[in-house]
Amino acid sequence: MRRLLLVLPFALLPLVAAHAHDEHDHAHGSLDPHEHGVASINAVLEGNALELELDSPAMNLVGFEHAASSDADKAKVESVRQQLEQPLTLFGLDKDAGCRESANELKSPLFGKAPTAKAESHGHDGSHEHEHQHSDITAHYKLTCSSPEKLAQIDLAPLFKAFPTTHKINVQLIGPNGQKGMEANASQAAVAF
Ligand SMILES: [Zn+2]
Repeated sequence: MRRLLLVLPFALLPLVAAHAHDEHDHAHGSLDPHEHGVASINAVLEGNALELELDSPAMNLVGFEHAASSDADKAKVESVRQQLEQPLTLFGLDKDAGCRESANELKSPLFGKAPTAKAESHGHDGSHEHEHQHSDITAHYKLTCSSPEKLAQIDLAPLFKAFPTTHKINVQLIGPNGQKGMEANASQAAVAF
């Protein structure tokens, strides 16, 4: 099995960068594209090809968003990276569908050599304000399924279990039945095509 792993030095969302220029302090709200505890997944099944893209605040996965400098932080980042390199342990796919990973690509400022996270100041609930760095982690997987017609759903329970501070995942699925958007959580973790 051939594996392709690219680690790019930074992947700031334009909206996050734009926030850094906001003159007003603001609380995390529904308009904020980066809400701790909330991640998003895009899944596209087309023919034999299954593509999965996970976009999460680094907070949900490693527990912090600053560039790792201490040995403990570096070890945590490395262990999360190794977990993310094994999509078949995070995404429950029907075994009969015969899906195999063909490539993956992980991106985050935390995986780069130089810190590129933008400092963003905001008040959380008005009681205090602080400087806080926000960083995302994006994982993009390509899989090939020998019997894609048997892939009825994706079970995200292993992902919620591996990263318990993830409370909600907004899922967009595109498959044989068209496009669907839904929310998954730890007690409702399976999403059907
Ligand atoms: Zn954040």
